[in-house]
Amino acid sequence: MKKTFHIAIDGPVAAGKGTTAKLVAQRLGFLYVDTGAMYRALALKMIRDGITLTDEPSVSAKLVETNPKVSLRVPTDEERDGRLCTVILDGEDVSWKVRTEEVSKGVSVITQYAEVRDLITPMARAISETNNVVMEGRDITSVVLPNADLKIYMEAEAMERARRRHRELLMRGEDISLETVHADLVERDERDSNREIAPLKKVPGAWILDTTGMTIDLVAEKIVERVNELRGVGLVV
Ligand code: C5P
Repeated sequence: MKKTFHIAIDGPVAAGKGTTAKLVAQRLGFLYVDTGAMYRALALKMIRDGITLTDEPSVSAKLVETNPKVSLRVPTDEERDGRLCTVILDGEDVSWKVRTEEVSKGVSVITQYAEVRDLITPMARAISETNNVVMEGRDITSVVLPNADLKIYMEAEAMERARRRHRELLMRGEDISLETVHADLVERDERDSNREIAPLKKVPGAWILDTTGMTIDLVAEKIVERVNELRGVGLVV
């Protein structure tokens, strides 16, 4: 069986992981896997069902009771509206519904729970078994694909990340101040980095990419170059 090639990317909120990963995937013909979107779909489900997200037993019970089905796909021609991937929750396209600030805040609460992680981690791994992937999230280099061919930790200054996220939210019509976005982002990063299970961290051997002041295009180009080096593309033997 042909060996698959795995690029694992972790990093804090709005470090540029999603847009970069999508671009790299397009250029290399790999599959882009947004694990954050999978967790977001579960958070949306809980919010809709009126579950108090800080109540772990209720979240777990709801997962068992409803057994939500989450999947990702490359957007079809009709779905190309700026989304990076299409997110399906129990048959419904929730690609944009999972991108609100309410879901962003809620998701980092429920991703601290083992029951939630135990649902998504095997799904993400299963996708990688048969595909060349660019997979991004918070625990890809440490837990999901610790043996990835290329491990990247992408970061950028918090204020620049807040400005990027604020611009995105305004463009989508959310009425929110830069200060609120910055505060939410710092809070979410702290929660993601300090949780007990699968915290966001820099693993040994990861390539630390600081995207402050860099265009996404340039970041993607650097990654593609590195992958081609690793795969021996262009080498004369
Ligand atoms: O990447 P994104 O901001 O969409 O992720 C949403 C949230 O999902 C993160 O704040 C984090 O709590 C959680 N997450 C995670 N592990 C991943 C991907 C995302 O805990 N692999």
